[in-house]
Amino acid sequence: MADQFAEIVFPNPLKQVFTYRVPGALENLVVPGMRCLVPFGRRRTVGLVTGLVGKAPAGVKVMKSIYSLLDTEPSLTSDLLQLGQWIADYYYCSLGESLFAMLPVEHRKNPITYIELLPDASKAQVELMLQSMPLLRGVNFKSLQAGKVALTPRTKMLADILEKESLIRFSLEGRRSKAKNKTKLGKAQAPPSLHDQQRAALSAIEGALGAGSFKTFLLQGVTGSGKTEVYLRAIERVIEKGQQAIVLIPEIALTPQTVERFTSRFGDQVAVLHSRLSPGERTLQWRRMALGEAKVAVGARSALFAPAKNLGLIVVDEEHESSYKQDKSPRYHARDAAVMRAQIGKAVALLGSATPSLESVHNARTGKYSFLAMPDRVNQRPLPKIKLINLREEWQVRGQDRPVLSMALEAAIRETLEKKEQVLLFLNRRGFNTLTLCMKCGEQVHCPNCSVPVTFHRGLTVKGKPALLCHYCDWKGPVPEKCPQCLDGDIQQVGLGTEKVEEEMKAKFPGARIGRMDLDTTRKQGSHEDIITRFRNHEIDLLVGTQMIAKGHDFPGVTLVGIVGADTGLALPDFRSSEKVFQLLVQVAGRAGRAEKEGIIYLQTFNPDHAAIQAAQRHDTGGFWKNELELRQALNYPPFCRLAILMYQSPDEKKAREAAEKVGQLLDKAAPAYQVQVLGPAPAAMFKLQSNYRFQILLKAAKASSIRQLIQNLDSRMTVPSGVLRVVDIDPQSML
Ligand code: ADP
Ligand code: ZN
Repeated sequence: MADQFAEIVFPNPLKQVFTYRVPGALENLVVPGMRCLVPFGRRRTVGLVTGLVGKAPAGVKVMKSIYSLLDTEPSLTSDLLQLGQWIADYYYCSLGESLFAMLPVEHRKNPITYIELLPDASKAQVELMLQSMPLLRGVNFKSLQAGKVALTPRTKMLADILEKESLIRFSLEGRRSKAKNKTKLGKAQAPPSLHDQQRAALSAIEGALGAGSFKTFLLQGVTGSGKTEVYLRAIERVIEKGQQAIVLIPEIALTPQTVERFTSRFGDQVAVLHSRLSPGERTLQWRRMALGEAKVAVGARSALFAPAKNLGLIVVDEEHESSYKQDKSPRYHARDAAVMRAQIGKAVALLGSATPSLESVHNARTGKYSFLAMPDRVNQRPLPKIKLINLREEWQVRGQDRPVLSMALEAAIRETLEKKEQVLLFLNRRGFNTLTLCMKCGEQVHCPNCSVPVTFHRGLTVKGKPALLCHYCDWKGPVPEKCPQCLDGDIQQVGLGTEKVEEEMKAKFPGARIGRMDLDTTRKQGSHEDIITRFRNHEIDLLVGTQMIAKGHDFPGVTLVGIVGADTGLALPDFRSSEKVFQLLVQVAGRAGRAEKEGIIYLQTFNPDHAAIQAAQRHDTGGFWKNELELRQALNYPPFCRLAILMYQSPDEKKAREAAEKVGQLLDKAAPAYQVQVLGPAPAAMFKLQSNYRFQILLKAAKASSIRQLIQNLDSRMTVPSGVLRVVDIDPQSML
C-alpha cells in the first residue's frame, strides 16, 4: 500500500499549506476540493484538501492523520480551486481564506446537520452503526438522548445509507423550506419581442456562447433600454445547451424586483442565493446548483462561487457598483473575479451597466472586452430631461432662509402631485442634521471612536434626549449642552439629512402620502420590500431616500425626480469622486419616466459647472468618459495604472505610525527595482476608524504583479509588529 498525503488549508491568514497523512480507511476516497476534519493544535477543525502527494515533505517526523472526511463529493470543483488560487495570488491573501470564502457558511464550520432518531432505534444500535463507518468518525454523541445528534459529515450518500436502515431520519434544515420556496415562485411570463438593439447584442452573445470559448462583453445600455431582457435571453440559450449560468446583482436585499424577473422567467430552475436566507436554506440552494437541479444562480457578490458544474455564462449586472469589492479579506472584486472564472471555465462573461466603470470602458477600448451598446430606451421612450438648479443663486435671492427645495422644484412637486403622479426625492445623507457645531468657535461634534462628524437623528434618543449617531461605528450619545471646546452654549444643528427632508415635505404637502427609504427605515426584515411595493402600488405619493432608491427599481408612476443634493460626493478625497457622482446621478435620473408618461429631473447643485454634473445633465456618457479618461491619464490613476493600499492600523497611534514609517523606508529603497511608485505613509483620509488609527501607503505600478512582488519582498524582510494590523487592498474601490 503506497502512502498517501493530503495538502490541506484552513480559513486563516497563514500562507501555509499543511500536510496530513491519509489513513488507510480513507485511502482513495480523498479528492482535492473535499473538506475533512483534522487535528490542528489541540482542536479538531475543518480543513480543505487542495492536493494529494505520495511523499511527506522532507524533515517532517510525526505526521498527523486526517480524522474524517466531511464530503463524498468535492465541495469545490477544480475550476473553483483554480479561481481560489488566482484570488489568493492576485489579492494577496491566503489560499485558505479564498477557498473557504467560496463555501456556504455552514460548510466552513464543524457540525452542520442533525440526524433525528426514530423512536424504535436504540442508542447502542445507532452508535454501532455510525462507528462502523469511517466517514462518520468524530461524531458527537452527547445529545443523543435529546433525540437529535449533532453530526459532522453531511452528504447524500450517508443520509441514504442511514435512512435505509430506518434508524434515523436525516434532516437537513433546508429540506422543509424547499416546498415553501417553490410556492413563492411566480408564473412564467411571455417575454416581449426584442427590439433591434437588444437583438444585435443578443446575437453577439449567442455567437460567443456557441463558440464555447472564453469571451467578455461590456453591455452599456441606458436606463430602461432592456438590459435585463438581454440577460434573460442569453440565459435561455445557456439552459438550452444544458449549461448553467450565474447572475450577480449588487445588493440582493435591495432589488427584490430584479430577482423576481429571473424567478418568474425560469421558475424553480433558479437558485436564489439570498443573504437573508438561513444558512441551511443557503446550503440547500447551493447544493441544487451543484447537483445541476438549478440552472441559474442569482445572488450578490459571493454567488460568483456558486458550484456550477458546467458553466456557460456569468452576468454581472450594474458592473460599476463598488459593493462588488469585498471590504474584508479576501478583498476580491467580484466583477474581475467573474471574468477570471469565465476564463478558467471557458465561459462567457457579460458585464452590464448604464454607467460602466472606467476600468471596464478602458478594457473595451483596448479590445480586452467586446463592447455592446443600447443607446435607446425601450419603445423609443425619451430619456428624461434634467434641469439644473444653481443653489448658490437661489440662496442669494432668498437670503438666510436656506430652503430644502428651490422654488422651481417645489412648484414641480406640487404640480406632479396635483396630476396624481409620483415623486422621488433623492439625498445621499441619512439622519436629520449632518453636523452639530458650536456657533461660537466652530467646533464640530465628532465620534469619540472615529474621525468623522456625528449625525443627528430625530428618531433616536439616549436617556430620553435626542441623540447623535456615528455612521461608521454605531456610537450613540446625547447632543452636548455646551461646546466641549469653548464651553459656550450655542450648539446648533446644520446640514440636511433625509429625515429632515421628509419632515419638511410633510409640512409643505400635507395632503400627500409621504414615505422615506434609507438604512434607518429598512432595518426590519421585509420593510424594504414593503416600501417598494407600496410605492409601486401608488400608496405613497412622494418617496424620499438615499441611493437605495436609485438601484435598478422600475417605478412606472414616477414622472418627477428631485435631486435635493449630490454635491457632497464631489468633495471626497478620492480620484473616483467624479465618476461616482456621475454614475449616481444617471442612475437616479433613470428612475423617471420609465412608463408612458415622460419624466423630468430637477438637480439642485452648488456646482452647476462641474464636468460630472454637466455630462449627467446632457446624458453625455461618452463625453464624460473622454474627459475623465484624459484626467486619469494625465494624473496616472486607474485605469492607466494599478493601485494598492497598504494600511497599518492600531488602537495605539504610535505603533501604527512607526510600523508604517519603517515600511515606507524599506519600500523607498526596494520599489525602484520593481518599478513601483510609493506614496506615503500618510494618515488615511479617515484617520481614526472604530478606535483604530490608520496610516496608509499607496502603491502605483503599470502592472499588478509588480506590486505583488514588491509586497512579497517586503514580507520576506519584515514582519508586521504585534499590535498592528496590516491590510493589503489591491485595486481599492474607496480611497477613504
Ligand atoms: P434596464 O435593465 O436596461 O434598465 P429593463 O430590462 O429593466 O431595462 O427594461 C425596462 C422595461 O422595459 C422593463 O419593464 C422590461 O420588461 C421592458 N422591456 C424590456 N425589453 C422590452 C421589449 N423588447 N419590448 C417591450 N418591453 C421591454
Ligand atoms: Zn464612530
